[in-house]
Amino acid sequence: MSKKSSKTPRPHRQNRGQQTKRQEEKQYPVAIEQELELEITGLNHEGAGVGRHEGYTLFVPQALPEERVRAKVVHAKKNYGYAKLLEVLQPSPYRVKPPCPVFDLCGGCSLQHLAYAEQLRHKQQIVKDNLRRIGGFAVDGEDAVRVHPTLGMDNPWRYRNKAQVPIGEEEGALIGGFYAERSHQIVNIESCLIQHEANDEVVAAVKRIASRLHIPAYDEISHTGLLRHVVSKVGARTGDVMVVLITTELFIPERERLIEAIRQEVPGVKSIVQNINPQKTNVIFGDKTITLWGDDVIYDYIGPIRFAISARSFYQVNPAQTEILYNKTLEYAGLSGGEIVVDAYCGIGTISLFLAQKAKHVYGVEIVPEAIADANRNARLNGFENVTFKTGAAEEVIPAWKEEGIRPDVIVVDPPRKGCDEALLTTILQMKPDRVVYVSCNPSTLARDLKVLADLYEVKEVQPVDMFPHTDHVESAALLVQRETAVCKW
Ligand code: SAH
Repeated sequence: MSKKSSKTPRPHRQNRGQQTKRQEEKQYPVAIEQELELEITGLNHEGAGVGRHEGYTLFVPQALPEERVRAKVVHAKKNYGYAKLLEVLQPSPYRVKPPCPVFDLCGGCSLQHLAYAEQLRHKQQIVKDNLRRIGGFAVDGEDAVRVHPTLGMDNPWRYRNKAQVPIGEEEGALIGGFYAERSHQIVNIESCLIQHEANDEVVAAVKRIASRLHIPAYDEISHTGLLRHVVSKVGARTGDVMVVLITTELFIPERERLIEAIRQEVPGVKSIVQNINPQKTNVIFGDKTITLWGDDVIYDYIGPIRFAISARSFYQVNPAQTEILYNKTLEYAGLSGGEIVVDAYCGIGTISLFLAQKAKHVYGVEIVPEAIADANRNARLNGFENVTFKTGAAEEVIPAWKEEGIRPDVIVVDPPRKGCDEALLTTILQMKPDRVVYVSCNPSTLARDLKVLADLYEVKEVQPVDMFPHTDHVESAALLVQRETAVCKW
């Protein structure tokens, strides 16, 4: 019970509710459905324009800084709301016509209407803003953390190597594309401009062939039918293609004709796999996977390292930019051959193997056992003997390594969006490696964690890399050097 409530009698519950509601309504200077003219002054981390009406913040997807727009309020919360763009009255000089015909419906590419060079500048700014606001770092001026311009792609289209497409039925033919916003209605598309062409071809071929063979699509409302999703993977460097058919049950009518037609009609196909998911669920994959034809994996390279990719294994979706990110990570690690390195959150060992090229030994830790199995397979595939992978939580395994006497010169972390566990940050401060390289997919948790590490480390520089052009994702690598080391070395 709060101190206040012990003395002050509480108003009647219902009264209190009504009062609060009225007060809140008063606080909003906008009403749902209200149409407004807004000056857009910024772009938020989701790629929505930011405008103010009587001091109240409104986010307007598809609006850009320096624009004047007409928008309709669609959602209002206490401190901010959302408005739908109705008309651009004064366009930004950086506005471009999105080339994708379903840009408005899909919502996947929240920045496609912004010139690519400006997208890159925006992503650099997001990193700077987070470092300043959340981390308390100076980002401009002499002693500032250097946040470099975002490394982008020369051709920022057709970069994704994996498509996961829900399948439905319309007038007797199979359709596939994406779910319309806030619904489970499938919008049929022939082509996605950020997908590798091979993935578009696979999806089109499966829709065509399965329609011809009368293979029914899954209907999630009645929980009937067979084909739920088509997943297509392509090795960008090898051209290998994997087709994964996700079905509700093992039996596929006309199975042999289906396989034969996919082999004939999909160029580069090396593997046809079936995954069975009988559950009523939004989760795409089920537990059982069988190879229908060909190999159970395809191969691809990042830099000189070869990776085996199975139907279920995680693999970076933009391998060209991944190579740039990993080369930066390797450069920041500053290896000369004798170092012990820890790679936390190592996934299938991609960064670990990159580092193992120049380190004495690399220890990788990852929580998903299947990813560690892939990591070990990839180490063998490339003949690395100086790597050890362990399944477990980084915040538990790394302290155990410390107890065993492992003394890393460099620790690399690449955590999920929520950032590093606090216990791991404490362990890093205790283990005192010379350098820490922090690879991050979320600038706000990056800034939060760097602030903790700044007790002992100087944040030298941060390099944003555009892994997902036209979307609002911001990836970056940060170099931290221990202060004492920094004094002797620099
Ligand atoms: N470094 C890899 C993967 C990074 S994604 C690459 O570049 O491909 C982050 C990874 O952290 C995921 O594989 C996820 O399974 C793993 N993970 C999440 N929480 C973890 C934890 N507490 N300890 C170790 N790994 C974790």
